[in-house]
Amino acid sequence: MRVWALPLALLVLVACVTQSAAHRRAARPPAIVPMRAAHVDPDRLAKRLAAIQPGWPRTRSFDCGRIKCVALTFDDGPGEHTGRLLDMLRRRGVLATFFVLGQMVAADHGPHLARRIVHEGHEIGNHSWSHPALTGLSDEGVRRELRRTSELVRRLTGVRMRLMRPPYGATDPHVARETRREGLAQILWNVDTLDWRDRVPAIVARRAGKAKAGSIVLMHDIHGTTVQAVPRLLDTLSRRGFTFVTVSELYGRPPVPGREYTERR
Ligand SMILES: [Zn+2]
Repeated sequence: MRVWALPLALLVLVACVTQSAAHRRAARPPAIVPMRAAHVDPDRLAKRLAAIQPGWPRTRSFDCGRIKCVALTFDDGPGEHTGRLLDMLRRRGVLATFFVLGQMVAADHGPHLARRIVHEGHEIGNHSWSHPALTGLSDEGVRRELRRTSELVRRLTGVRMRLMRPPYGATDPHVARETRREGLAQILWNVDTLDWRDRVPAIVARRAGKAKAGSIVLMHDIHGTTVQAVPRLLDTLSRRGFTFVTVSELYGRPPVPGREYTERR
């Protein structure tokens, strides 16, 4: 017997007994036994069920101090190739970290892609609103660039971002101070694929293949050639025994706001 069948049977029984008692008395109208199930709002239930996706929310945990981990990171999107990249990563069961630009999230398919990034279990980080060198901005300017993107992503996905990547990797103590105030850790990299310069999938894959245990690999999902390089670099790194993790998973705990991270040593 199913778990819910017993209480249901009891309810029906109670209903029958109550009804026949009411009939015997005849003066009173039949008692209405409330059915709990009738109080579930079908719209709310449907929404709740739709939100439950296989394996989500994920609770993965890796000891990257012992196993070979690598964090693949994609900047400057979401763009026209991001959907294809997400399909690829989903097929291979690989999670990455996306440092998104606010103005890209706000554009055309940006909201949909930002939601996909989050719902498919990837980590999302702040790459500013419009990609300026934050070192050239006032405190207020840095804050505006970060806050605007954080608020948009939060409104669209419900996620409060914990990571940021300064455009061009340009940071200094004043940028560090503002990121700390905004609750964002600064994530740099130690493997640069230079995929923005060399638009050749084989070259991008070879450079990413130079990752070591604990590496953070820099790529850009706005380039079709980078997305084309992904299957090959996943093959290379898998063959070398790497586990693909998000940046937070790489460290095993939430990175500290304001602090700079370039790899896990
Ligand atoms: Zn960038």
